[in-house]
Amino acid sequence: MYDTIIIGAGSSGLMCAARLVCDGMDNVLLLDSNPKAGKKLAITGNGRCNLTNLSLDKDLYFSDDKDRLYKVLSYFGVDETINFFEKELGLKTVSKDELVYPVTLKSSSVIDVLRFYISKIDIEYELKVDKVSQDAEGYTVFAGEKSFEGRNVVFATGGMSYPKTGSDGNGYRLLSRFFKKEEFTAVTPSLVQLKTSDRDLKSLSGFRFNSRVSLISDNETKATEVGELLFTDYGISGICVMQLSRHLTNGRNKVVIDLLVDDEAICDSLRRFSHRSVPDALIGILPSELTKTVLKRLGTSELKDPSVIRRFIRMLHEFTVNISGTNGFDNSQVTRGGLNLNALDDELQSREHKGLYVCGEVLNVDGPCGGYNLQWAWSSAVVVADSIKRSIG
Ligand SMILES: Cc1cc2nc3c(=O)[nH]c(=O)nc-3n(C[C@H](O)[C@H](O)[C@H](O)COP(=O)(O)OP(=O)(O)OC[C@H]3O[C@@H](n4cnc5c(N)ncnc54)[C@H](O)[C@@H]3O)c2cc1C
Repeated sequence: MYDTIIIGAGSSGLMCAARLVCDGMDNVLLLDSNPKAGKKLAITGNGRCNLTNLSLDKDLYFSDDKDRLYKVLSYFGVDETINFFEKELGLKTVSKDELVYPVTLKSSSVIDVLRFYISKIDIEYELKVDKVSQDAEGYTVFAGEKSFEGRNVVFATGGMSYPKTGSDGNGYRLLSRFFKKEEFTAVTPSLVQLKTSDRDLKSLSGFRFNSRVSLISDNETKATEVGELLFTDYGISGICVMQLSRHLTNGRNKVVIDLLVDDEAICDSLRRFSHRSVPDALIGILPSELTKTVLKRLGTSELKDPSVIRRFIRMLHEFTVNISGTNGFDNSQVTRGGLNLNALDDELQSREHKGLYVCGEVLNVDGPCGGYNLQWAWSSAVVVADSIKRSIG
């Protein structure tokens, strides 16, 4: 019988195992359906792994239970995380604009230091857990023909984003044996690109703009972000857009983009180059594709009348893109929703099923881009590992 069985060798499962090993507890089994550990971790931060954020703002996370979320992040926060990676695992880190990366700028280094550190424990790959049951002794974990027994079980199965990495949402099904339906928040893709059916935007595909972007749903402004926006063949992308995606509703969604143009410069160019066509007069300020799109939306090709010029400029500050949906779980960086934090105690253990723990993205916690979601994976994993250590003594 194992002391602990961890389901999922992703970010949180690996960290949970490492923390247990650090505390001298190596009677641990780690299971994953993939042929190797950290498949999603490998693609984080464009392969560089932005593992945390030096100015992490806890208020930017979303969850059903912010108090519990804060407790977890305070127990093992940014400093403790960097310290553990540097001092215990031997991973040197660097920061750029507050974002923390391994010094090698390779996510494989993060996976490797974790993997080597836990080499004493049993690891079984290519085994997909299909059922977990509980008896007086603890838990039995079933994976195909095989079964394993453990006093504690940790669900580190991830959310539903990028299902080809193994976190395909089956963790929710496994957990549904132990938790009521009401203890889950419906899942939707978050940190994902937005699609549009506005046909006049195709010509803007490939153009980037520094913008202030707001998501309006049923006439209510849900969120505003500032950053670089990219027009694509399906719609809009960029970190600012991805951060709006969690606020999409089932109603009518649109994004209003302030393209942050310089009004004076536009008026000046129109005056100085009045002998040219409008797109050519503004060529030094705006891509002609954008000028043409806005003129078309205004139903004019001339900018002579001051009131039309004002409308043209206003449209550049309130450029509207109707949103038809997202690029889905296949392309989303994180899952919104999951098992509610208030279904667990402060140590992320089930109140009814002692020895059953949950960590990582399968829980109802999601954060913005910039190391927030990995920080949650590390923090929640350590809270679980330390609780197991205390329970075993
Ligand atoms: C493209 C991309 C880039 C990202 N970049 C960043 C970034 O730079 N910084 C950041 O903070 N966050 C980033 N994230 C988010 C971050 O990677 C996740 O939030 C984090 O990895 C979640 O950790 P986890 O342990 O909960 O789940 P995962 O890392 O997804 O691990 C879950 C593991 O459980 C296994 N599993 C699931 N079910 C079973 C089962 N039944 N049996 C056996 N094994 C099972 C899966 O195979 C998987 O290996 C990114 C995400 C994506 C998709």
